[in-house]
Amino acid sequence: FARRLHKTVRKLLPDCEIRFIRSEDGSGKGAAMVTAVAYRLAAQHKARQKILEPLKLSHEQLLEVKARMRMEMEKGLGKETHAEATVKMLPTYVCSTPDGTEKGDFLALDLGGTNFRVLLVRVRNGMRRGVEMHNKIYSIPVEIMQGTGEELFDHIVYCISDFLEYMGMKGVSLPLGFTFSFPCQQNNLDEGILLKWTKGFKATGCEGEDVVGLLKDAIHRREEFDLDVVAVVNDTVGTMMTCGYEDPYCEVGLIVGTGSNACYMEEMRNVELVEGDEGRMCVNMEWGAFGDSGCLDDIRTEFDVAVDELSLNPGKQRFEKMISGMYLGEIVRNILMDFTKRGLLFRGRISERLKTRGIFETKFLSQIESDRLALLQVRSILQHLGLESTCDDSIIVKEVCAVVARRAAQLCGAGMAAVVDKIRENRGLDFLKITVGVDGTLYKLHPHFSTVMQETVKQLSPKCEVTFLQSEDGSGKGAALITAVACRIREAGQR
Ligand code: ADP
Ligand code: MG
Repeated sequence: FARRLHKTVRKLLPDCEIRFIRSEDGSGKGAAMVTAVAYRLAAQHKARQKILEPLKLSHEQLLEVKARMRMEMEKGLGKETHAEATVKMLPTYVCSTPDGTEKGDFLALDLGGTNFRVLLVRVRNGMRRGVEMHNKIYSIPVEIMQGTGEELFDHIVYCISDFLEYMGMKGVSLPLGFTFSFPCQQNNLDEGILLKWTKGFKATGCEGEDVVGLLKDAIHRREEFDLDVVAVVNDTVGTMMTCGYEDPYCEVGLIVGTGSNACYMEEMRNVELVEGDEGRMCVNMEWGAFGDSGCLDDIRTEFDVAVDELSLNPGKQRFEKMISGMYLGEIVRNILMDFTKRGLLFRGRISERLKTRGIFETKFLSQIESDRLALLQVRSILQHLGLESTCDDSIIVKEVCAVVARRAAQLCGAGMAAVVDKIRENRGLDFLKITVGVDGTLYKLHPHFSTVMQETVKQLSPKCEVTFLQSEDGSGKGAALITAVACRIREAGQR
């Protein structure tokens, strides 16, 4: 029987080499083998879940994050407590939103994101109300980002000069809005003292200096043109203003890109750092530094600590490091390494690639989680990273990405819930309707981030109806609008 069976099979499959092995006690031993494999898989699954557990936040934990954010906000606003506060709540001297009568041509600079840009913005009023923009992207080499301040600002002025030539506007002097997305202490709209670099910048001799002064010095060194620097603008504020131009309910700005930050309209009576009690002023929260006092240590995981320790600014921007594009991929990579070291992934083999910092970019989180992508394509992304994976591996990687992104969106939502509830209480309302202007590639391109964040805000602040409006180029357009408003007010004052 056996011989005939073998012969028939081989004849039917001439291209295959087939060996027949006699099993010994298949039903007994086999059952044990199946059970053993199932056991191993279940144990490994359990081990992975245990590692991921601390990254899954409960409703209570999120409420706690919201409450702590609220406490840190009060500290930042208070005159007595500001100095030691980690969430700085910086006054921006932006008090009025566009009313549609602004007009003119403005230059804007956008520094502090992935790209440095110079823009020409034309603002029109009346029947042709609207904003028209031209911009050019310039790269800032790492040597310059982390070189001297003079080199950095000389490079910026070189880019402005190149842009003016490109636009055929050499010699024209225009009012300029400078979007400078780092924490700055402002005593005026046209001044910004850099408190500390974040997000990969580290140029020397800038911290503690007025960046408008540094820019003007560089302009004078070049002796080619002069510019009237009207406003230093944080990208959150620019985003709020851009959305405010379309929607008057927009009184909050949010960024979830390379870094994360927010701003909102606070009552002047609560902005204790600035004289006066009338009206409102936009406050740049610098919420990325939330947690730097240690108040989030109970929810930070070993992976957050590892990412922080190897960053350019250890111990700083702890909230941002759990939320934003510069860090999420690194958190995922650290978890994957831990899994692999424990033999729970990639057959326990750690590749050199996996050990390389920064190879797992945050855009992969979006790609891997996009529902259209079959697991096979997840595998091809992993393969592209030099990671040999099985089908099971790719399911695991997808889950890790989901957990990390979900936590980021929930934390961001908890922070936002604190902000909108404070605005509601400021105004003594039982119910608040408000719009948040949002910018940032992570928010815009991740398939689930915005949904999870919005759900979280709804759950944590049920007395607020919050609409999220995506801003188009908030940092460029916003800087020009703020400059336009400032020029309008200045001209009105001169009349
Ligand atoms: P910035 O905040 O620097 O002004 P962006 O808003 O463009 O600039 O954000 C850049 C960040 O977005 C990068 O850190 C990058 O990791 C992240 N990113 C880029 N593409 C994607 C994507 N498809 N999904 C999620 N994040 C992305
Ligand atoms: Mg940006």
